[in-house]
Amino acid sequence: MEDFFNLDNLKEKYDLVIIGAGPAGLTAAIYAGRDLLNTLVLEKNFPGGQVSSTEFIENYPGFPKGITGSELGNLFCEQAVRFGVQIKYGQCKKLEVKNNYKYIYIENDRLIKAKAVIIAGGSQPKHLGVPGEEKFYGRGVSFCATCDGAFYKNKTVAVVGGGDAAIQEGTYLTRFAERVYIIHRRDALRASKGLQEKAFKNNKITFIWNSVVKEIAGENKVEQLTLYDKVKDKQSNLDVDGVFIYIGRFAETEAYKDLLELDDEGFINADESTKTNIEGIYAAGDIRVRKSNINQIVTATADGAVSAKLAENYIDDFSEITVKK
Ligand code: NAP
Repeated sequence: MEDFFNLDNLKEKYDLVIIGAGPAGLTAAIYAGRDLLNTLVLEKNFPGGQVSSTEFIENYPGFPKGITGSELGNLFCEQAVRFGVQIKYGQCKKLEVKNNYKYIYIENDRLIKAKAVIIAGGSQPKHLGVPGEEKFYGRGVSFCATCDGAFYKNKTVAVVGGGDAAIQEGTYLTRFAERVYIIHRRDALRASKGLQEKAFKNNKITFIWNSVVKEIAGENKVEQLTLYDKVKDKQSNLDVDGVFIYIGRFAETEAYKDLLELDDEGFINADESTKTNIEGIYAAGDIRVRKSNINQIVTATADGAVSAKLAENYIDDFSEITVKK
């Protein structure tokens, strides 16, 4: 792979610019590169996206023995680069459209022009911001039960949150864990009634109400949570092997808010077609509104393929609009 941080050979014009080098962006890049589109992928952290920081992945097809997140991220990159795609460090600060061309403003006042853009910046889970949360990430702290639940067979885990995600994933975790504590900051759940009923009937789930996590502690991995009961004004400790945090997600879409339609939470309004309200701009993966709320590597890669094929059709028919003076 070309030096990720060397921007000397960054061109000023591409057929397609993909923002975000996670599974959605890199799949779009593989399709676009293979279809001979002059393609740039911009990434503001490290290529591979969230996948690269996932310890081990057992549910991505084609890897029967599982694969580490960093290996899978590297393979995605290798495959895109093989088809001539450039992957470069850069953060989109602003996106504009003039005469049908898309202008991507990045660091140091650099400007890149493209016929089409795929936004695949992903979404991030909200963090609690308590001591131990970052330290034990991947060692007992998780934001994905589908990814990590199977590691907790016959163990004790906690889930933080009271929304659909916390209750659905808490219930899912009872397949593996012997005991699942759901810690919620109020005395009533936000989750839908159907999910609540299922969880209340599940004898592997214990609810801890009106409580917040103050600290996540352990030696080399998570061993204990410090909880604070807001009603009783009392602190206590809870021994657990893992903690799953489900207190909502956010998408970094500040750069697009003047151009694209976003929902109340800041996710880009686009359906399965990945088309946004602007022709030639697509939103793929977790950054778009997804009614199912199932955000997995496979759902992101599927979006990547769809967006690249539609972008390719758009680029084939591309014509510049000349504005009369
Ligand atoms: P959510 O609905 O925003 O719920 C977040 C939960 O976390 C709330 O219970 C909230 O408490 C709690 N919370 C927020 N910040 C916290 C903090 N700092 N400390 C402790 N608790 C905190 O988020 P979500 O569950 O991720 O769901 C997001 C969207 O996806 C929702 O629209 C949901 O309906 C949808 N979804 C649907 C399904 C499904 O239908 N099967 C599955 C997953 C998600 P409060 O209640 O006190 O605010």
